[in-house]
Amino acid sequence: MTTTIAAIRGMHDILPERISTWQRIEDAARQVLAGYGYAEIRTPIVEITDLFKRSIGEVTDIVEKEMYSFTDRNGDSLSLRPEGTASCVRAVIENGLLNQPLRLWYRGPMFRHERPQRGRYRQFHQIGVEVFGLDGPDIDLEVILLTARLWRTLGLTGLRLEVNSLGDTQERAAYREQLVDYLEGHRTHLDADSQRRLTTNPLRVLDSKSPETQAITAAAPRLMDSLGEETRAHFAAILAGLEAVGIAYRINPRLVRGLDYYNRTVFEWITDDLGAQGTVCAGGRYDGLVAQLGGRDTPAVGFALGIERLVELVEAAGTVAAPPLDAYLVAVGEQAQREAPVLAERLRDAAPGLRLMTHCGGGSFKSQFKRADKSGARYALVIGDTELARGVIGIKPLREETGQRELTLAEAAELLTAASPRA
Ligand code: ATP
Ligand code: MG
Repeated sequence: MTTTIAAIRGMHDILPERISTWQRIEDAARQVLAGYGYAEIRTPIVEITDLFKRSIGEVTDIVEKEMYSFTDRNGDSLSLRPEGTASCVRAVIENGLLNQPLRLWYRGPMFRHERPQRGRYRQFHQIGVEVFGLDGPDIDLEVILLTARLWRTLGLTGLRLEVNSLGDTQERAAYREQLVDYLEGHRTHLDADSQRRLTTNPLRVLDSKSPETQAITAAAPRLMDSLGEETRAHFAAILAGLEAVGIAYRINPRLVRGLDYYNRTVFEWITDDLGAQGTVCAGGRYDGLVAQLGGRDTPAVGFALGIERLVELVEAAGTVAAPPLDAYLVAVGEQAQREAPVLAERLRDAAPGLRLMTHCGGGSFKSQFKRADKSGARYALVIGDTELARGVIGIKPLREETGQRELTLAEAAELLTAASPRA
């Protein structure tokens, strides 16, 4: 017997039974983002490896150990994108889009070679937002507000907002020294990754998941205390905006984010309902990244949310049923089977948006009718020799105890449209 081939570990099929939840999230995001004037951008899922090294940072989990990198036939090192920001920045620089403020969003698969577990996969999907050319707190506030609106649209109530400010480059440099001084005193009690990062990227030690390290960083000097007046005012304006709109938040001084490019504002939306992988959405400001990748100096802010984690939350909040079929067309006899696709096309012309499945593969009236019933359709449409001779369609409600009627094509189209009004 031939052996079967399985999907790659950590990469999953999204089967039809779950797809309505995915579509509901994607539709809600599209609708909310359009409501704030954001435009969609689509970039390739493969990029030159250096793009990610230069943007995400060499000393990050992603670049150190999670990237799917390979050499292509030309000998170039390419990588499957582990996140969307780097590609987005490359695209806006390359296409010369930075001469005015830009509000963009994207969605699609991302790839990271992590240990697969609940809420953590090797291919996963994100919806993300990137705004370029605006440096005030008003836009930081806007991106947070639109995420809050998305949760409301999806009926999710259990998400908490955490915010922090990482300061600007100088403030971070000053803080970095204080932090290193402090952490050096506890070096031997830090986890191995953190010991290494102490010299390469000490702020990331604050992001460590090791409980021992966390106990040490809990008493570390706080970045918030090293912030200058301007950064504080920027942060305060965001917090005031959140309060004015009525969005609850918590300042989390340990929130530093896993990527290198953030400055000033960072935020996360967190839930307790997903076990260890509780962060559903994460983002912040990254004013230096565009210049770092060779573009003109351009402030930027954005976020990414993990669709798989949202799907789990939305499913827990109640199932999203796929819209049922309006009708299933049963055709009995040779002539009727030839006529069926013609009739179905005319019905689709007459009733745009109609969800009509035509029976394929022939068979007796009884077996076709069984399929009609199983399809979940509201009506069975029936054509046989009699109906053809009289120029009518038989129509039988499948979900109520009413008999079969005969209608003309125009009448059938009207009935089906009325029965299932569409947005
Ligand atoms: P985490 O701390 O969970 O590893 P991260 O800081 O690596 O997250 P980001 O790179 O900021 O996450 O990605 C934003 C969001 O994308 C996360 O909050 C999460 O919802 C989702 N995400 C990230 N990595 C994965 C993954 N491997 N599988 C599923 N979703 C993911
Ligand atoms: Mg991660």
